Amino acid sequence: MTESFQETINKIREAFGQPESFIPLHEPRFRGNEKKYLNDAIDSTFVSSVGAYVDKVEMMLSQIAQTEKAVATVNGTAGIQIALKMVGVSEGEEVITQALTFIATANAIKHNGAVPVFLDVDLDTMGLSPDAVSNFLEEFGEIRENGVYNKKTNRRIAACLPMHTFGFPVHLDKLILVCEKWNLPIVEDSAESLGSTYRNKPTGSFGTLGVFSFNGNKVVTSGGGGVIVTNNHSLAARAKHITTTAKIPHPYEYVHDEIGFNYRLPNLNAALLCAQLEQLDIFLKSKRELASEYQQYFSKSGIHFRTELPETTANYWLMCIELETRKERDLFLSASNSAGVMTRPIWQLLTRSAMYSSCQKDEQKNATFLEDRIVNVPSSAR
Ligand SMILES: *Cc1c(COP(=O)(O)O)cnc(C)c1O
Repeated sequence: MTESFQETINKIREAFGQPESFIPLHEPRFRGNEKKYLNDAIDSTFVSSVGAYVDKVEMMLSQIAQTEKAVATVNGTAGIQIALKMVGVSEGEEVITQALTFIATANAIKHNGAVPVFLDVDLDTMGLSPDAVSNFLEEFGEIRENGVYNKKTNRRIAACLPMHTFGFPVHLDKLILVCEKWNLPIVEDSAESLGSTYRNKPTGSFGTLGVFSFNGNKVVTSGGGGVIVTNNHSLAARAKHITTTAKIPHPYEYVHDEIGFNYRLPNLNAALLCAQLEQLDIFLKSKRELASEYQQYFSKSGIHFRTELPETTANYWLMCIELETRKERDLFLSASNSAGVMTRPIWQLLTRSAMYSSCQKDEQKNATFLEDRIVNVPSSAR
């Protein structure tokens, strides 16, 4: 077994043309207009929350996501927090999501004073399972005058927040049907899935709102940043207002009409993002080529490499393999990391961390299975 892992490690090194040096899991590439646009932003003196690059990236992102509107935010977590607020999530209410996700998904719920309900994922997508949502609502849901309530907790269930794990889209058609039946708005945590599509439509454009992240490890980066996308003009206007301190536009007077947030993406970061977005297609193509090399290699060596499902395209943000047991997973993690090839297990279920251990959850059968077996392998654009 160790021998075949050595072969796999060599293959990854070969794919990156790095016979010896450390290979990170995902590193950004700055090969376009990054320095030019950053210098330009500095020369303009507009480095903060107002500037031409902020407007420009919002235009580019509404094009990429095929939505009417885009509102840039200081990071993805803040974007999800505000998107949830836009669909009416309030203190003491509940939001349905998955436990197999990055912690930001649940934190964004908590930042609204709301409570996550953790439901299972599908084995094939690794994202929120429409069947799990349906089963939960059939058992605990009750439609009342102003929405669906959880009979067990007596709290209103205000939204559903699916996450497209590693850029593989969830079963959106089925999930939308379930959520429509129960009158639940969807906010897509598309932080990992910029460039992924479901039936030829970009992820992020299916929910009432969707949110992307541009953290340093994502497909494209602004250093730190995020964006809310939506087709709803009034929600977009409200999201922009509340993320820019709720200031009423005026040439010199400072009047604010509610307690807002300082969540706007700085123009300096937007300049970097603008140059990165220009290269998105190049990055996506490069990652697909790597995925296809991995697929050929892993299928020969009998290891399950995860590929996109029918009727979807994945952005292959973080590529992953599924090992047979937790023990095998641990052996591979240890062999690869000690050989300078960075690999990482999928997240531990959020229900295991102290902050979320008392939240309502279902059996987590699929999530636990994947937690024990999925490992990310180096996935940078080359
Ligand atoms: C990256 C990420 C976010 C947002 O992260 P930020 O670092 O705040 O931009 C949210 N959810 C998931 C699943 C992510 O991977």
